[in-house]
Amino acid sequence: MTKEMFVKLVVYAILAILIAFFILSVANPEKFTEVLEQINAFLYKDFDAKGWIFITAGFLSLIGCLKIIEFLFSFRSTRLPYHKYRHDTFKGALWRWEWREHQVENLWCYCETCHQELSYKCDHLLFKTEFLCQKCEKQICSYDGDNINYVLSHVKREVRRLAQKQLKSKDD
Ligand SMILES: [Zn+2]
Repeated sequence: MTKEMFVKLVVYAILAILIAFFILSVANPEKFTEVLEQINAFLYKDFDAKGWIFITAGFLSLIGCLKIIEFLFSFRSTRLPYHKYRHDTFKGALWRWEWREHQVENLWCYCETCHQELSYKCDHLLFKTEFLCQKCEKQICSYDGDNINYVLSHVKREVRRLAQKQLKSKDD
């Protein structure tokens, strides 16, 4: 078991106990008071046990709080400054994409005139991929490589490079 998993299990166990206590307090208040009294009696019966339980509970709550803070901060860090950069024109075609952390996803190209999705044709003899607009009935652009995934990863690299450039020019 990794450290991460152990911490998760402990946090879930504490949450489960708290939820169980809450349900018990609503469903059966008399039993809830009885359980509380039993716990209280147990804690006061033996000072050593009480001390250890308090230290352990305090330590686990501290881990829980740190985990919650870390979880909340994880939302902030996922929005990088260049995440606003989501479209650009390369070789006369309008390319759109989404960001997931540093990764470019759902990348595709559209016609600048009619905004229709472009279709593609791979020419294995000329080792080229052509992008065409069915509505305007014309070829918009052509890339080296006869494999669509190869072309898309090429454009993704270009997008990441330009995004990094934006980031650097902002820092200057
Ligand atoms: Zn078009």
